[in-house]
Amino acid sequence: MVLNPGSTVGILGGGQLGRMLALAAARLGLKSHIFCPPGDNPGAHVCDAITLAEYDDAAACMAFAARVDVVTYEFENVPVTCVERMAERVPVRPGIDALRIAQDRLTEKNFLRDLGAAIAPFAAVDDAAGLAQAVKQIGLPAILKTRRLGYDGRGQALLRSASDLTGAWTATGGAAAILEGFVDFEREISVIAARGLDGAVACYDPPENLHRNGILDVSRAPAAISSDLANAAKALAVRIAQALDYVGVIGVEMFILRDGSLAVNEFAPRVHNSGHWTLDACAVSQFEQHIRAICGWPLGDPSRHSDAEMRNLIGDDVAQWAVHARQAGTCLHLYGKDAPRPGRKMGHVTRLLPMGHTQ
Ligand code: AMP
Repeated sequence: MVLNPGSTVGILGGGQLGRMLALAAARLGLKSHIFCPPGDNPGAHVCDAITLAEYDDAAACMAFAARVDVVTYEFENVPVTCVERMAERVPVRPGIDALRIAQDRLTEKNFLRDLGAAIAPFAAVDDAAGLAQAVKQIGLPAILKTRRLGYDGRGQALLRSASDLTGAWTATGGAAAILEGFVDFEREISVIAARGLDGAVACYDPPENLHRNGILDVSRAPAAISSDLANAAKALAVRIAQALDYVGVIGVEMFILRDGSLAVNEFAPRVHNSGHWTLDACAVSQFEQHIRAICGWPLGDPSRHSDAEMRNLIGDDVAQWAVHARQAGTCLHLYGKDAPRPGRKMGHVTRLLPMGHTQ
């Protein structure tokens, strides 16, 4: 089903990604209706309608589904039951399978392995004894990651030696987890790919991503890698999207190993922080691309007109907004959140650079 301009896009989640999706929908003459629990919801400032309710409020879910023409989500931890309820009434894109797989690191790893993608060695960990067993199997160093609800490095602990086992298990809250071998990567990249309702695909050139305290700090587009490697990364992301029968934008995080090969870290079934530079360096941003895909519209051209360096404004970084605002060639994005807590993404800046700059 193709949505006409004037239709309403339902967005689950009222954070900055929901906000930027709502802004992109508005540019295309579409309306947006955000569903999120009460709180500081920057998406709520820019949408046409808002439902403030918990995701397990069945009546609110059904009422929301009745008022929108398609449902999408801005984060992967929306409860599946909420989405299932809505899917009875209205198309949900990307589909529930992508959400279900992405919500559980073990399911996600098994999916990627079965697809033949290179990934770090991993083992399931259900309890402290299982952790000791997994360390024997995987070796050290390794990273313990909770199966569910981890993001921006939360729910993760690095194990360097056997003495770290108990501390790591406690640090991650004793929740069901996976142990992943530590990857000695050369660099990290991501592919922001889109798949349309008709199966057409489009990928942005992969950026290189630099993290600080487990949180994305900088994305440089394009990554300084060969076109063969960039194409291989794109092909891998497309294979994942196709296997999920995916509709929308997907972010696939990858490691480039010392031997020049690729390994997939994880995928996010949504627009991705490492694709924010597309707002300013491409004719069609990842947000517009996602809206186009879920509405059954033709995908846009993902090519760049500039190279770009995106830097997140995290916590107190945002106090420097006026400095960024004075810089030529710099695009400032502030999310309108009230309190700049440590680790909280308050905005980002994208510096536009001449094409070929990063090569
Ligand atoms: P994740 O939440 O899995 O995306 O992990 C956050 C960041 O931690 C990644 O972007 C990497 O910088 C780092 N990381 C995650 N898994 C590994 C790994 N197996 N080996 C080395 N670094 C990792």
